[in-house]
This record gives sequence, C-alpha cells and structure tokens, in this order.
Amino acid sequence: MIYFIALLDIYGQHLGYTTITSFFGKRVSPTSGASSNHKGVDIGAPEGSSLIAIADGEITFLDFLGGGGYTLTLTTENYKFTYCHISPQFLVKEGDYVSQGQIIAIVGPKNVYGVIGNPYKDANGNPTNGATTGPHLHLGMRDIKTNEYLDALTLFPELF
Ligand SMILES: [Zn+2]
Repeated sequence: MIYFIALLDIYGQHLGYTTITSFFGKRVSPTSGASSNHKGVDIGAPEGSSLIAIADGEITFLDFLGGGGYTLTLTTENYKFTYCHISPQFLVKEGDYVSQGQIIAIVGPKNVYGVIGNPYKDANGNPTNGATTGPHLHLGMRDIKTNEYLDALTLFPELF
C-alpha cells in the first residue's frame, strides 16, 4: 500500500507543504494544553490548504475534540488517521467512504468562535481551534488493532 501525504497546497498541487513544524514524540509543549509527548506530526500550512485522504477509508469522526480542535478521523484498513485543527466548514460527513487523494477537509483558522466549553484561548483571549498557535495540520496515526499512536512520517520515508 502506497500512502498519500495528507496536504495539497491551496492551488491543489500535490506535496504542497511538507515542512514539519513539530515531530512525533517528546517535546516542549508549544502552548498551554498542548502535549509534551506529541502524539502526531505537525505540518505547517496556511489556512485553506486542502487536506486529502491518505488512503481509501471511512470518515468515522468529525467534530470538535478538545485540544485537537475541529478533528476528522479517517479509518483505513490498517490505521486510524486523525486530522486536527481543520476548518469547521466540513466537506464530508461521518459514515462517508472516501478515496485516496480525495479532498476531505481544509486547514482551519487559528481562532474559532461559538464552540461551547472550548477552554483553549490565544494570548489575546480569543478562543482557538484546539491547542494551537496557528494554522497547521496535526496528523495523528493509530494502529487499528492496538490503538497505539505511531509516527505517520514512517509512511513517507522518501519525503522526509
Ligand atoms: Zn500536533
């Protein structure tokens, strides 16, 4: 199985953004509420960048999820991929089956409003899209059998 990197750029080009702003594993927490044991990979990209399905699968979660902000889960044959800090303008819905390469979400804004119980705020006191300092994709990957968090970059050794 060949996996697709999750980001297109805003013009729809493949491999638009591949700059890793935070790797998987131990780190200094970049903002209040963000993990010091990073269970994903952060890829810097402007708000509005397209996010594509890494592989064929089913959308199994789509909602605001704490520190992940607006979050989409794509369940494939072997893994669950989570796309965090996405736009609340959803392009798919739970239960949809999507094809590899299909645009399934867009990178969301730093600030989101109207989420009841959202504890995350920036330095100006404005509510944020989960624990985030700016628009990016947090890409999580879990083994579907063990639920263990894995480093998604291991799927793309040629890129990084
Ligand atoms: Zn992250």
